[in-house]
Amino acid sequence: MSFGKAARELAAIGRRFYARGWVLGTSGNFSAVVSRKPLRLAITASSLPKGTLRPLDILQCDESGRVMGRASKRPSAETLLHIEIAKRRSAGAVLHTHSVWSTMLSDAWAAGADASLAIQGYEMLKGLAGVPSHEHRELVPILDNDQNMPRLAVLVGETLERHPEAHAFLLRRHGLYTWGETLADAERHVEILEFLFETIGRTQGGPSWR
Ligand SMILES: [Zn+2]
Repeated sequence: MSFGKAARELAAIGRRFYARGWVLGTSGNFSAVVSRKPLRLAITASSLPKGTLRPLDILQCDESGRVMGRASKRPSAETLLHIEIAKRRSAGAVLHTHSVWSTMLSDAWAAGADASLAIQGYEMLKGLAGVPSHEHRELVPILDNDQNMPRLAVLVGETLERHPEAHAFLLRRHGLYTWGETLADAERHVEILEFLFETIGRTQGGPSWR
């Protein structure tokens, strides 16, 4: 995908997700791979409200997270996490949201060192790439939140290696990361997972609520 097209599509996703309440304030960030070799990402600039996101708010960065070309804005603080996912999963796009349900469930299920939320038995699981049946068991790892991005990127890399089937992970009391082969796949994954989080939140809650 060209950088220009990626910038337009990422800005449009920001406005749609804001309307759904998934990226309120300046939360969330989005990226799309515009070159694989060398790795180049189109990514949202830091600290911008997503409801009014424009293509001008999208930067291009290299595989170390450095901004290329126009440098009047800073890239998202979480750029290193996007790069880690793009590399390890060969993802074409990475989307990160801060919804109420992902924040609540990531806390409610965050017990133990290898914390995770298991989702099974829901028809909507079939919206995740490669999932043929509601019987699929999706394990969403939950990582402790951290403001030290290089350290968190290492933890993300280890988690993705430990859970090769995972379509997503949660950061505790923070939000969701998911990805896809294309931007459309990644956007569908956000919709599917947010639907499932809300369903589980409303019907089961989490162990810490009981
Ligand atoms: Zn975040």
